[in-house]
Order: sequence, then C-alpha cells, then structure tokens
Amino acid sequence: MRYPARLRGRGERTSISVKGTLSKSSEKKQTSQRPAIFCDFDGTITRVDVTDEILAQLAHPSWREVEQEWTCGAIGSRECLARQMALVEASAKELNALIDAVAIDPDFASFWRFIEECKLPFYVLSDSFDYIIRRVLKRAGVNGVLRNGTHMFASALRVEGRRLVTAFPHCAAPCEHGCATCKPRIMRRLSGGRGPVVFIGDGLSDRFAVGEADVVFAKRQLLAYCRENGIACHQFATFAEIETALRDLVDAGRPRRQRGRSPKAKSGR
Ligand SMILES: [Mg+2]
Ligand SMILES: [Zn+2]
Repeated sequence: MRYPARLRGRGERTSISVKGTLSKSSEKKQTSQRPAIFCDFDGTITRVDVTDEILAQLAHPSWREVEQEWTCGAIGSRECLARQMALVEASAKELNALIDAVAIDPDFASFWRFIEECKLPFYVLSDSFDYIIRRVLKRAGVNGVLRNGTHMFASALRVEGRRLVTAFPHCAAPCEHGCATCKPRIMRRLSGGRGPVVFIGDGLSDRFAVGEADVVFAKRQLLAYCRENGIACHQFATFAEIETALRDLVDAGRPRRQRGRSPKAKSGR
C-alpha cells in the first residue's frame, strides 16, 4: 500500500511499507485496516517533561546524581524513577498546582476529538506516572475513566501525606532495556496484525518503540535519532500536522465512495 503524499518519508524513502500488506481485491478488509496509534506523553503531549519539572522544583537536589547514573547507562529508567520520586517531598496540593501549570500541545485537544470521531485505537505509553497523565489529559478534554492498563500504560503514582509512592505495573518481567514501561513490548502485544502501527514521540526513551512502528512522527531527540539511523519518520511540531496526515491515512483505507465523508455523516444514514 502506498500512503498519501503527506505520509511518505521526506527523502529517506519514497514510500513507507506496511507490514500487513493489503489485498487489492478486498475493500472490506481495507476498511478494517485502521491505524493503531501509540503516543508518548512527556514532551510529546506536554511541551515539557513533567517528571523533570517535579524533580527540579520538589525533590532533594541529589535527584541529579541519580539522573547521571541513568544518562551514562548504569541503571534503567525504572530504577532511576523509583529512586528519584522517593526524593520528592510535597503535598498533593503542591503537586497538583505544578501539574496544572504544565503547557499542553495547543492542537492536542482537536487531535483528540478527531481520534474519538474516527474511533481510532489510541494508547498513551509512558515511563511517567498515571496520576500526572490523567490530570493533564483531563485538562486537554479527554473525558471518562483513564485506567492504567487499558488505554494508558504508565508507571503508577499515589500521594501519601508528603511522600510519593511509585509502582511499575507494566514491567512485571524486566525487559532488556530496564524500562519502567516497556513501549515496544506493549506495542507488540496490542497491535497484533491489525492496521498500520503509528508511533508519536520526542525522546531517546522512544527509540526502542520506533522499531515496532510502520509510521513514525518524531521531534527533538527522537527525530535526530531517526535521522542518524536512517529510520523513515515525519517531523512534527504540533498535533495539527499529525491529525492532517492521519486523516489522509484513514481516508485511504476506506472504500472510494466514502472518502472525504466524515464518519459522523456516515453513521447518520
Ligand atoms: Mg517524551
Ligand atoms: Zn524495554
């Protein structure tokens, strides 16, 4: 399958190949090839890394020494986060005030409405914490219960007095990277031979995830990593560009006569 022009690689490749190749004769099968979208949280949905903000403002300064151990590869992100969050001393009120001040991608709310309108499978994958993600996404217009382990896969956090208690429900069996939440493992489990797998991210901890994706949207360090390693990807600044590209992709997977019609119009028959 060839994707619409906007989704093709820029110079790296002329087109992006899809693992589950579509059969030309079956339009019915094509309609079921909806993309599954996996998305990083910190620095991708938010403008800054929320965990770093919490540590910088509310943790004992020795969190930076732990960060050093992680940066040089001595420890994985799971051990790093467990030790760092134990250095935070703050009430729920202080923590919430900090989280509520974090800037969100200005086009994420619109992107979320598109996801709901097209009923696309969307998963947040993050080393960060469910408590933070829930609170931020609610502000971005994501309603309903966001259960950790259904559409969000993240580390767990609860506030006890002035202490933060962490748990890591998505690394029961440790992975080779030492992840707090192993993104490639979850993607393999959830994407299972359906439509094209889309990954959206910004950081170095996303580099293991891109290997599981058919279409990658990247910025910052992840973009640099993809370019250095010859991995086809699409540079993005905000979710508006991703929404435009995914609309084309969803449209290309629908029968010709339905293209350009919104799913709402279709269900009104
Ligand atoms: Mg990130
Ligand atoms: Zn891992």
